[in-house]
Amino acid sequence: MRNFAYQRAGDVHQAFTLHGDDHRADFIAGGTNLIDMVKLDIMRPERLVDVNQLPLTELEALDDGRLKIGALVTNTDLAYDESVTTRYPVLSEALLAGASTQLRNVATTAGNVMQRTRCPYFRNPARPCNKREPGSGCSALDGISRNHAVLGGSDQCIAVHPSDMCVAMTALGATVSVEGADGKREIAFEDYHLLPGDTPEREHDLHDGELITHVTLDAPIAGARSHYLKLRDRASYEFALASCAAVVALDGDTIREARVAFGGVGTKPWRSHEAEAELNGQPATQATFERAAEAALAGAKAQHDNAFKIPLAKQAIVRALTTVTTN
Ligand code: SF4
Repeated sequence: MRNFAYQRAGDVHQAFTLHGDDHRADFIAGGTNLIDMVKLDIMRPERLVDVNQLPLTELEALDDGRLKIGALVTNTDLAYDESVTTRYPVLSEALLAGASTQLRNVATTAGNVMQRTRCPYFRNPARPCNKREPGSGCSALDGISRNHAVLGGSDQCIAVHPSDMCVAMTALGATVSVEGADGKREIAFEDYHLLPGDTPEREHDLHDGELITHVTLDAPIAGARSHYLKLRDRASYEFALASCAAVVALDGDTIREARVAFGGVGTKPWRSHEAEAELNGQPATQATFERAAEAALAGAKAQHDNAFKIPLAKQAIVRALTTVTTN
């Protein structure tokens, strides 16, 4: 492991001031992902700015019905908070489907948003990887691609986004609040993570030195029910092969409003507006769900090892929608 400087920030302003716009510096909170990467010599920060002392550990119910989540709220605290279990159960389910108890106890909301891909070639410095070293090539394209993306990939990168929490937030609708030397900004959650395109090294819309301070969930859809279904190789401590967050409000047997997002199949947390268009205003039936599944995966592109993910994701959405619309 390489040496790095360590500094502890006492407030948000001090945090982004200490960081500056130095791309060799990183913020650290729970460290569950960053320290992994440092040990693997994938990330080589020369300075770490510890933000654990910042006053960003609270959840706040806003007057307009939204829920403001501090960047340092741990995954455990978020999953079990009563405002989440009662108003946003899909988020609680997604959080508890991810990682392990020990990891969730220290992993933070902002850290989860910022976590890096689990592509094995990205984590192996001996193999070419455009995300780690732009222009070096993508080892997954002609390598083992069983766990890679079928939605949102490019000829530069097909790495899957690993988060469960982010899939639920994408479905619920949320805003990411960031702060840096140029002031405060708000970014729609759906726009925060970027497609790889020709620049897979750019994973999110965050400028050097900016710090996530909050994620604010939209007000819940009136009368909606929700479910997070995660399909994986083993029942715990495993990343998704395909997952689906479904949020549905019914008027009788008719779908008034539906939100659908996928994990395990996309290069970013994948909201499917195509599926939602097939669901809204339609009867809540198997046939409707199957049409939504076809629409959601219409643009999917399989690699040599992961064609199975396309029918698996279709089954995930049909099953998640069936669960939320069945009494
Ligand atoms: Fe790197 Fe992306 Fe290719 Fe994986 S899929 S080797 S992260 S460029």
